[in-house]
Amino acid sequence: MAKGKEELNPFKIAQEQLDKAAEIMKLDKQAHAILREPKRTLVVNIPVRMDKGNVETFTGFRVQYNDARGPAKGGIRFHPEETLDTVKALSAWMTWKCSLADIPFGGGKGGIICDTKKMSTGELERLSRAYIRAIAEFVGPDKDVPAPDVYTTPQIMAWMMDEYATIVGHNSFGMITGKPVEVWGSAGRMDSTAMGGMYVLREAAKMMKMDPKKSTIAVQGFGNAGKYAYTLSKKILGAKVVAISDSEGGIYDPDGLDLDKLEAAKAKTGSVQGYQSKNAQKISNEKLLELPVDILIPAAIENQVRQDNADKVKCKLLLELANGPVTPEATDILFKKGIVDLPDFLVNSGGVIGSYFEWVQNTNNYYWDTERFYTELDRIMTRSFNATIATQKDYAAKGRKISPRMAAYVIAVDRVARAMKARGWY
Ligand code: NAD
Repeated sequence: MAKGKEELNPFKIAQEQLDKAAEIMKLDKQAHAILREPKRTLVVNIPVRMDKGNVETFTGFRVQYNDARGPAKGGIRFHPEETLDTVKALSAWMTWKCSLADIPFGGGKGGIICDTKKMSTGELERLSRAYIRAIAEFVGPDKDVPAPDVYTTPQIMAWMMDEYATIVGHNSFGMITGKPVEVWGSAGRMDSTAMGGMYVLREAAKMMKMDPKKSTIAVQGFGNAGKYAYTLSKKILGAKVVAISDSEGGIYDPDGLDLDKLEAAKAKTGSVQGYQSKNAQKISNEKLLELPVDILIPAAIENQVRQDNADKVKCKLLLELANGPVTPEATDILFKKGIVDLPDFLVNSGGVIGSYFEWVQNTNNYYWDTERFYTELDRIMTRSFNATIATQKDYAAKGRKISPRMAAYVIAVDRVARAMKARGWY
């Protein structure tokens, strides 16, 4: 890598973050070496009969990064630019996410190189089923439990679960999460990522003595994470959302945005930029990150706050609801500026915690109501936030200032290393 140029390969970033945590916590060298690489990497080539009668071959991946604390856990992405390195990085981050949440899972991730926008429903179903046939011996409720991710849906999870049940000869609802409720998905799972983020936001605001009701928020992204972050920060915390964006760009109104009007604009024009009000102005995604708001929530894609723009970020609290929105160099810049940047694998862990609840219910064949789901989610999110801040304070007391990301890493890596040690892996 040329000097001064930032490394944006996600797996290199994941390894760099681990190396930094290992140095801070003085991690055993053997444990560090095990944790720098995935335990198992599977590449499959899947022939699928297309609607026109021809057969197309798709490449798929499943990476099980670490399973010392429990079955691997992580989503399956369908993306035209999917790469093995992205899947490896995401599987590492899943390992730290499950460990920080202290739930009994390791980390995994899967993906298929495909463009869902160019495929019919029938082709998608055949691809989903063929992928499960290709990886069936490596997954299962006690081995590796997939879930939805980019461009995969509850329907796709239902097909995959059905194919797996056919192969093993009995129902196995706990082999995959994020299913429709008709086949024992969980109440509450749909908005659990953003809801978990809101519990962290509430605790962080308390710590920073900020009143959410008097705070302004900018959200990047209007998908599952971003849209629920918008509605819940208004509904639960009473905050004022002044800006939001999608892939076309953003809209900023210092008086606050109205959800009904936003949804109508999106439906009519295809973008939130179609929103109109007295003081609303169109802004770029880049400018949204630089707005003078109290709280910034990147909830779209990775590498948004980087070395080249981190200095222009003006919020007090940055809540990483997307995966990897802040690069390692930018993390350091934000930390020096005094911005509280709460890391993705803490903030967005509500998604996998919701998946864990679904798996627990499938395993026990006993189903919860939404109230229980949110109460348990709140308990785990608050516990993770408190542990992260306590670790940060511990290090500060010993004379070493570390970012919340590194504090969360230290907790997560330590738990996985201890489990590996107890099992005799090193
Ligand atoms: P989604 O596909 O539902 O929505 C993505 C949003 O990002 C869309 O509004 C899209 O228009 C917008 N977008 C795309 N490119 C953009 C760009 N260049 N600039 C700004 N906006 C852009 O996805 P999602 O499920 O909401 O996931 C968003 C992020 O949250 C991802 O990083 C994902 O990994 C992470 N995440 C999601 C969940 C979950 O449960 N949905 C869980 C954990 C993490």
